[in-house]
Amino acid sequence: MDFDPPAAVRPLLERVEAFIADRVIPAEREVLERGFVAAAPRLAELRAQCKAESLWGPQLPTELGGLGLGLVEHGLVSERLGRSPLGHYVFGAQAPDAGNMEILHKYGTPAQRQAWLEPLARGEIRSCFSMTEPENPGSNPTMLSCLARRDGDDYVIDGHKWFTSSADGAAFAIVMAVTNPDAPPHARASMIIVPTDTPGFERARNIKIMGDAGEGWASHAEIWYRGVRVPQDNRLGAEGAGFLIAQERLGPGRIHHCMRWIGICERVFDTTCAHVARRKIDSDKTLASRQIAQAWIAEARAEIDASRLMVLHAAWTIEHKGFAAARDQVSLIKFYVADVMMRLVDRAIQLHGALGITSDTVLAHYYVHERGARIYDGPDEVHKMVVAKRILQRYTAT
Ligand SMILES: Cc1cc2nc3c(=O)[nH]c(=O)nc-3n(C[C@H](O)[C@H](O)[C@H](O)COP(=O)(O)OP(=O)(O)OC[C@H]3O[C@@H](n4cnc5c(N)ncnc54)[C@H](O)[C@@H]3O)c2cc1C
Repeated sequence: MDFDPPAAVRPLLERVEAFIADRVIPAEREVLERGFVAAAPRLAELRAQCKAESLWGPQLPTELGGLGLGLVEHGLVSERLGRSPLGHYVFGAQAPDAGNMEILHKYGTPAQRQAWLEPLARGEIRSCFSMTEPENPGSNPTMLSCLARRDGDDYVIDGHKWFTSSADGAAFAIVMAVTNPDAPPHARASMIIVPTDTPGFERARNIKIMGDAGEGWASHAEIWYRGVRVPQDNRLGAEGAGFLIAQERLGPGRIHHCMRWIGICERVFDTTCAHVARRKIDSDKTLASRQIAQAWIAEARAEIDASRLMVLHAAWTIEHKGFAAARDQVSLIKFYVADVMMRLVDRAIQLHGALGITSDTVLAHYYVHERGARIYDGPDEVHKMVVAKRILQRYTAT
């Protein structure tokens, strides 16, 4: 077993690390304080530099102008990008676009790819993914109410969605809607591409997340679909295949998220160590002299390293043995790494004292905007239940 990053990817990792440290992190304060809309020119400039230096789209196939990395390699890049809240956006690897690009690439017709995938891959437009509904449990997506009924060559969509991330300013949504109400639960829904300028597509608001509604890419919208008419040609994949495609979207997506979270953990770890080593709490002692700080730092180091090994192993399993072989691993990393990240952020804030809850460090941003990690893409409890059931089956089967 070789635990070093593959030799071919090491120079790339170094370049990504330098780009994030030297150019992206210095832009953070401006972008987070002014907001994504006002800071758009700064972000566009960084994206242009990224392209000019052949760093754009680590997860994208080369024919779409990306780096064509495999899941493990992209995971390693994703960790580096995760060191800044802007990293994935600047490199064209941000959710939800990355997942949408993946399914458009796999299931899109030539016309859909040309209209939506190609400009998305170039970073000229943005997209969103509209599945969760306020009236129904997102953790059980077979209970969707949003309906797409056939009318001539069209679908007419009626429904109410929320937490459609990045809908503000998106050119199109991929909507999960029930097309076959009488089919078995997992064959009822389809994915349909809806341009956001279609009559009846109404973005009601950007939902406030702990007081912050965000804007542009960094937002989560409530949306009404009121008699939205689109051609049936806008369906992605087969009718009733919505869940199948959603599962495919989520598998690699969870690896991407987990590696991004590890990047966040490393940033938080550095910030914390630097702070406790510097912060005087006595005339001749810093916070680093206290056992509680030492214990938290040692525990954090162990948890981050354990997380990385688990996630890379899951990515490796998907690459070499297929997603089915990695099902348990993917559930384990999803709740484990999200929990490690949130504990680290909380402890880091505690060690920073009042400074920790200000916007003078990146910690408060993470506290607010990463808390959702334990909820989206399957809440902790669902992943734990699924894994435990499968493990226990092996014991009860004998
Ligand atoms: C930051 C963020 C971004 C998001 N982005 C998107 C997006 O772009 N597009 C989109 O469609 N959706 C998005 N979502 C929505 C997300 O997918 C749902 O929030 C998630 O699926 C959970 O659904 P829910 O919120 O309806 O919670 P519910 O399903 O109501 O569950 C609530 C809680 O109940 C518990 N629970 C649920 N089921 C079980 C069970 N079987 N056993 C034990 N406990 C259980 C869990 O603790 C869970 O947190 C986003 C959410 C967040 C927080």
